[in-house]
Amino acid sequence: MPMYQAPLQDMRFIARYLKQQAMAQATPLAELFDLELFDAIVVEADRFAQGLMQPSNRTADVFGAELQAGQVHTAPEWQELYQQFIESGWIGLALPEEHGGQGLPRSFARAVWEMWYSTNLAFAMLPQLNVAQAEALIATADPQWQQPWLEKIVSGEWAATMDLTEPQAGSDLAATTMRAEPQADGSYRLFGQKIYISFGEHELAPNIVHLVLARLPNAPAGHRGLSLFLAPKYVLDEAGQLGAKNDINCVSLEDKLGIRGSPTCTLVYGDTQGATAYLVGAPHQGLAQMFVMMNEARQAVALQAVGVSEKAYQLAKQFAKERVQGAVVDHPADTVLPIAYHPDVKRMLLELRSSTVAMRALCYSLGFFVDQAEHLTDETEREALLDLVQVLLPIAKGWCTEKASYNSSLAVQVFGGMGYIEETGIAQVMRDARILPIFEGTTGIQAKDLLGRKLLRDQGQSVERLLLRIEITARALESTAGLEATADVLQQAVTAARVAVQALVGSTDSHYALFAVSVPLIELLGTLSGGWQLAQLAVFATEPQAQAVEGAGYSQGIQQLWQFYATHELPNILALAQVVQSGGEAVEQAHLDWALI
Ligand SMILES: Cc1cc2nc3c(=O)[nH]c(=O)nc-3n(C[C@H](O)[C@H](O)[C@H](O)COP(=O)(O)OP(=O)(O)OC[C@H]3O[C@@H](n4cnc5c(N)ncnc54)[C@H](O)[C@@H]3O)c2cc1C
Repeated sequence: MPMYQAPLQDMRFIARYLKQQAMAQATPLAELFDLELFDAIVVEADRFAQGLMQPSNRTADVFGAELQAGQVHTAPEWQELYQQFIESGWIGLALPEEHGGQGLPRSFARAVWEMWYSTNLAFAMLPQLNVAQAEALIATADPQWQQPWLEKIVSGEWAATMDLTEPQAGSDLAATTMRAEPQADGSYRLFGQKIYISFGEHELAPNIVHLVLARLPNAPAGHRGLSLFLAPKYVLDEAGQLGAKNDINCVSLEDKLGIRGSPTCTLVYGDTQGATAYLVGAPHQGLAQMFVMMNEARQAVALQAVGVSEKAYQLAKQFAKERVQGAVVDHPADTVLPIAYHPDVKRMLLELRSSTVAMRALCYSLGFFVDQAEHLTDETEREALLDLVQVLLPIAKGWCTEKASYNSSLAVQVFGGMGYIEETGIAQVMRDARILPIFEGTTGIQAKDLLGRKLLRDQGQSVERLLLRIEITARALESTAGLEATADVLQQAVTAARVAVQALVGSTDSHYALFAVSVPLIELLGTLSGGWQLAQLAVFATEPQAQAVEGAGYSQGIQQLWQFYATHELPNILALAQVVQSGGEAVEQAHLDWALI
């Protein structure tokens, strides 16, 4: 089976680009962004990814997960892998030092986590839940969670889950019915069922800490009545040691399309006396608190898309270098060349590579903006950056995950018939990729969030500020030797996006018609934002300091990827802008019978 190697050149290059941005702001982040340390960490992570993560990717896919007498068993190799993972301290890489982490920038950790997602997505979901849960507990600023919870979550000694979904409450969390009954000692008892809970039960850690959305008695209906609870698999005794098993039981596992090694559990809370739980934060504020975990998880899923897309590209590239088939156009008929030389296969490889680099730049930059916002002292600048993060988050989650799913299918196409055969590994990549646009909020929900909670609410101002940033890059292209021609293409894309956004904001159409084009809007803004980031890299690549990093050849390659993207991806924005401006009406006016026939 073809092997993965971390794209270290790409990672080092983006790190230099981000370092330059950090230096321009002159915040403490510039100091923290230690490139020597970054280079050392990614080499070590690559070794871990190749040597320890990769080997059980396929075996766990075949093994799946088993439920026997209430116990969930994952792939046998994962016990040792999990121990090695936590002993290496990977979970705490970008978590604050005061909570047991290493306090490195998030944008640093992006490269490392991308490797985990490329080499073993199903396994990597487990420690990622620890990071997201730690962020949620830290955000409460309540010292009671420090010991033992945060300490053990950050170290990975205990595992974490996120329990939102119920049979009737998927995208619509307002429909949550899990009940929380207050107890005399200040704790609560939970009753109800959660479904699709990733790693809801397993034997990899001695305890599992669930963060659960539930409703207090007499809670208001809808979102405002949700509270957040922490419920451990084993309740702690008075000495703080693991005590009785809590009343939380895994009653079934899902048989899934992809990420088959990760157990997806139905958990019943309160089969007998009720599951002991503790309120996290204020009553009825649960959704806002859970959003900290979900936002972290959404950034992680966008990054998972980068990892999956990189893996798809690498497998396709390796196959295309070896498979020989037919004569290549404009080459002598008797020249034996691999399929990578066929113009259409080359196009597919360029599409895979350029979009993956664009997605990577977008996701690392998103992490960088969060890092930077934490260090800015000027409140106005900080607000502006956080505003950018809020807009980019649904765009990155929506666009990158859809693109990764598409890219994994495109990579199967590069393989031809062999792509459909499991032994090549690309079929698993495609199966694994398909969950990304679904969990942590479907693309439809990301699009609804972008349009409803951001664009319509502030009359398109935040998106306009994003477009203004992209225009600055277009002007930089204008004055960059060799890239001048792409400046116009980027500017046209920005103009088309602006017209589309203004049409939505100023529209007299019904909201129904507007929401009918919210996903095309996400695709438009994602294609544009990814292009923006790739263009930034291309401009950076022309600078002598950048050429010194990986050599002039590499820098030229980045510029060519941008030129490919500008001619093959950006023109789609013009068509998408048309759909956004006028496509809603056709959805609204079509009789539902014609969609349901
Ligand atoms: C493998 C796997 C792992 C998971 N892990 C977890 C986990 O660890 N914890 C957890 O809590 N959950 C988990 N989930 C659940 C996951 O987050 C949900 O499946 C997801 O949020 C979608 O909810 P749903 O399945 O009920 O789909 P639905 O909400 O029924 O959506 C079906 C379709 O309708 C669309 N739709 C629904 N409402 C709207 C709307 N208002 N506007 C526009 N379109 C809409 C959706 O976009 C989608 O296309 C997991 C799911 C899977 C499959």
